[in-house]
Amino acid sequence: MNIQLQNLTKKYGNTIVVDNLNLAVDSGEFLVVLGSSGSGKSTTLNMIAGLEIPTSGNVCFNEQVVNQVPPGKRDVAMVFQNYALYPHMTAYGNIAFPLKIRNDTDINLKVVKTAEMFGLGGLLQKHPKELSGGERQRVALARALVRNPQVFLMDEPLSNLDARLRLSARGELKTLQRKRNITTVYVTHDQVEALALADRIAIMDKGVLQQVSAPNDIYGKPHNTFIAGFIGTPPMNMANVTHCGDNRLAFGDATFTFPAPLPVKTNSILGIRPEKLTIAPAHTPAALPGVIEYIEYLGNEIISHVKLSPGITWYVRGAVEGVNVGDRVVLKFSPNDVHWFDPTTTTRIVF
Ligand code: ADP
Repeated sequence: MNIQLQNLTKKYGNTIVVDNLNLAVDSGEFLVVLGSSGSGKSTTLNMIAGLEIPTSGNVCFNEQVVNQVPPGKRDVAMVFQNYALYPHMTAYGNIAFPLKIRNDTDINLKVVKTAEMFGLGGLLQKHPKELSGGERQRVALARALVRNPQVFLMDEPLSNLDARLRLSARGELKTLQRKRNITTVYVTHDQVEALALADRIAIMDKGVLQQVSAPNDIYGKPHNTFIAGFIGTPPMNMANVTHCGDNRLAFGDATFTFPAPLPVKTNSILGIRPEKLTIAPAHTPAALPGVIEYIEYLGNEIISHVKLSPGITWYVRGAVEGVNVGDRVVLKFSPNDVHWFDPTTTTRIVF
C-alpha cells in the first residue's frame, strides 16, 4: 500500500497546524516524521488514520482518496504513546483482540509468538493494571503487530520504555517491518530513533515540511539551517561569515583564510559538523583560531568547546592530549566538509 498526502492542510480555528503538506510514502517504506513538540506530526498521522478530517487536501491510499473512509475501514494498525489497552482483558486478550474480531486462524500461535518478541511471555495472564508502563506499551505494540494490516501508524510508541528496552524494541520493530514489508509511518521527536529506524525521514517544523530524505542525506546534506541544527548531537556548528577579499573570511571579530577557493561569492552561513573539526597548534595556517573553553568527558566520547569569538563557541568531537582549557588553538577542516547556507533564506546554497 502506498500513501500520498496531497496539499494536506489542517486548521484549528485560524491556526494552521499542518500547512499544505505534500508527501508520498512508498509501499513497504518505513517513513519517520520527525519534529519538535507541536510541529504537527500527530495531526498528520491522525489524518492518515482517519481520526482527524483534513481542512483541505487529500489523503490517498494506492492513489484512491480516502478522506471519507472511516478509520475502521482503512486497515491501519495504530500504536499511540498513550496505549489504550482494554482494562478488563488480560495481556493475552488484548493482543488476541484484533485477530478475534477478524475471525483469524492460528490465534494462539500468533499471540504467543508476538508476545515472545516483546518479552511478554510470562505476563500474558496479567491485566493492564498489574503491568508497568513499559510492559503496557509492549502489549500495545504486540497488539498492533500481531496481524498484518496494510499500514502501520505509530505515534511515539517507544517513549515510555526505559533506554535498554527502547533499544531492543527498536531492533524488533525494524526487523519485523522489514520482514513483513508493511508501509509504516512513525512519528517521533527523537532524532536518534528517526535516524535508526527510517528508510526516509520527513522533518516538520511549525506544520511545514522541511525536508524528506534518507537518514544519511538528512545528516550529510541538510536543506536549511533549521535541519542542520536539529539533527546531530552536538548540533552542526554554524556562523555568519563575511567575505573580505581573496580567500579570507571574517567571523565575529576574527578573520581566517579558507583552505581552498571559496565556493560562494557573497556573505553566507558556514557550517561544520563537530566530528569534521580537528584541534591543531595555534600557528597552523588556514584554520579557525580559538581558545579551549571547556572539555566535556562523556564516557564514550569527549566534546571540546572552543571559543572562536565573543558569543561564538563551537563544538569539536574529541580532544588533544596536552591541550587544556585556556590554550590557544586552531580548528582545521577539509573544505569538502563545509556546509554553506544563505543568511537570508537559511537554505543550503552548495550541494
Ligand atoms: P506534534 O505531534 O508535532 O507534537 P500536534 O500535531 O499534536 O504536534 O499538534 C500541533 C499543534 O496543533 C499544537 O500546537 C497543538 O496544540 C495543536 N492542536 C492539536 N490538536 C488540537 C485540537 N484538537 N484543537 C486545537 N489545537 C490543536
